[in-house]
Amino acid sequence: MSCNFNLSNLPHLQVRDAGAHGMGTFASLQWLSRFLDETPGDEEVGGRPRQVPKACWSRVNPTPAPTPQLVMWSNEMAAQLGLDRPDGSILGGGSIVEGMDPYAQRYGGHQFGNWAHQLGDGRAITLGEVQLEGEVLELQLKGAGHTPYSRFADGKAVLRSSIREFLCSEAMHHLGVPTTRALSLVTTGEPVLRDVLYDGNPAPEQGAVVCRVAPSFLRFGSFQIHSASGDVSTLRTLVDHTIEHHFPNHSVHDDVARVAWLTHIAEQTASMITHWMRVGFVHGVMNTDNMSIHGLTIDYGPYGWLEDYNPGWTPNTTDASTRRYRYGQQPQIGGWNVARFLEAMVPLMDEPESLHQVLDAYISALDEHHNNMWATKLGLDVFTALDEPLIQDLNSLLQEVETDMTIFFRLLCSIESPHIDSLRDAFYDSSTVPTDEWNAWLQRWWSRTEGSPNRSIMRKSNPKYVLRNWMAQLAINAAEAGDFSVAERLYILLQNPYDEQPEHEEEWFQKRPEWARHQVGCSMLSCSS
Ligand code: AMP
Ligand code: MG
Repeated sequence: MSCNFNLSNLPHLQVRDAGAHGMGTFASLQWLSRFLDETPGDEEVGGRPRQVPKACWSRVNPTPAPTPQLVMWSNEMAAQLGLDRPDGSILGGGSIVEGMDPYAQRYGGHQFGNWAHQLGDGRAITLGEVQLEGEVLELQLKGAGHTPYSRFADGKAVLRSSIREFLCSEAMHHLGVPTTRALSLVTTGEPVLRDVLYDGNPAPEQGAVVCRVAPSFLRFGSFQIHSASGDVSTLRTLVDHTIEHHFPNHSVHDDVARVAWLTHIAEQTASMITHWMRVGFVHGVMNTDNMSIHGLTIDYGPYGWLEDYNPGWTPNTTDASTRRYRYGQQPQIGGWNVARFLEAMVPLMDEPESLHQVLDAYISALDEHHNNMWATKLGLDVFTALDEPLIQDLNSLLQEVETDMTIFFRLLCSIESPHIDSLRDAFYDSSTVPTDEWNAWLQRWWSRTEGSPNRSIMRKSNPKYVLRNWMAQLAINAAEAGDFSVAERLYILLQNPYDEQPEHEEEWFQKRPEWARHQVGCSMLSCSS
């Protein structure tokens, strides 16, 4: 079985010449509608809220933004698509071009452990699929108005959460973490009412729309919904479509083939989550409707980045009581989600018991990725069972006093002797650091690497720059006042997260400033977006 935790395999783009002019417009792209053509859909068109049994999608047009302005643009994604920078009209939902056939996807999901029935794209509208050389990518607007799946909500998104999605998905890509991408961010000129603290005080915020890009936005919940309603025929059709276009090396003609396909998905999920653990990312809402079938990080909501190394931390205030989606629990939750996905596949199996093999494969993949992750983070050439106590003791020590995860591991890459002094900047209060314990641990690690940890592999595993919660908040504060320069600078900084970039150290290679410690948007985020 292949386990893809490969750090030499950092972002690899099939980019057309980004400098070339006259690359193309939306109208010149080759649009496909394979999903609409091949899976059953809703007969009614438009965004009236409704249950849509036996369907995978509903046709719905985006709601045009009153005064769309294109404020952020991913040159890289645009080059991959072959697009020139347009104005904000199409990307703000104002018009469609020939070939686009917009729709919202129907799916269900387990939310915080409970089956939630029909959810679906409540505020995401796919414009269509684009045929490129060797791949097809789906373009989707997030925040472009009502769909049949909006339920009681408005189908809109605010600038704050759109900046977070744009910056983070692009940053994750450059960190080598599988993710959906962002093409653009358009402000709509329309106020959107949000109750950020859920305390009965809604306030108007600026509306925005992100255009995001992925091979597809199919989720575990896309399959669960049909299985849960006993609609095996639609389930089968969706699986056939998915295999044909997204997993061409697989088939589902017998249980052995089905298990191999599902194992592939489980392994990709394990790989994605291990990458999250490596860089200190906490998704925040790992519901099964937010688990991509491609093992991509999807649906950036109240996510956050570990600053202080605290495995119990979650940024999501909605999850504050149980902290189900806390950093340290993400690998287990991934397994729980895979199990729910496998249950949805039971109707397609001759011998459903064989699905247990897939869960076993998830656990072994996680184990293997975990070992490789620690080997790369600590510069070990191989990881053996004997290294496990070293990792466990490191994990305990990192939690003894407030310690910045990113700074600790980055400084460790350059340490010249096994002494805690050169790591002092990683601690919030260096007077409380358990110096003797740290020196003892560092000495063990130093001996293990024979005094020469593999520094180059460490520097590719331990990023110098991540989208810290307060960094995103600074970009948001400026953008809300009409200044996108901070967001732009972060976008560029985070294209090279493993490079030293000494000119940016003082500003961005820093522990969380005191003002951000209890600040909404930094230490606490709600699902209100
Ligand atoms: P999430 O867990 O944030 O990805 O979203 C859960 C469900 O709520 C999905 O079906 C979303 O489409 C839907 N949703 C979230 N925000 C909105 C909104 N502002 N308007 C309509 N639907 C929404
Ligand atoms: Mg979602």
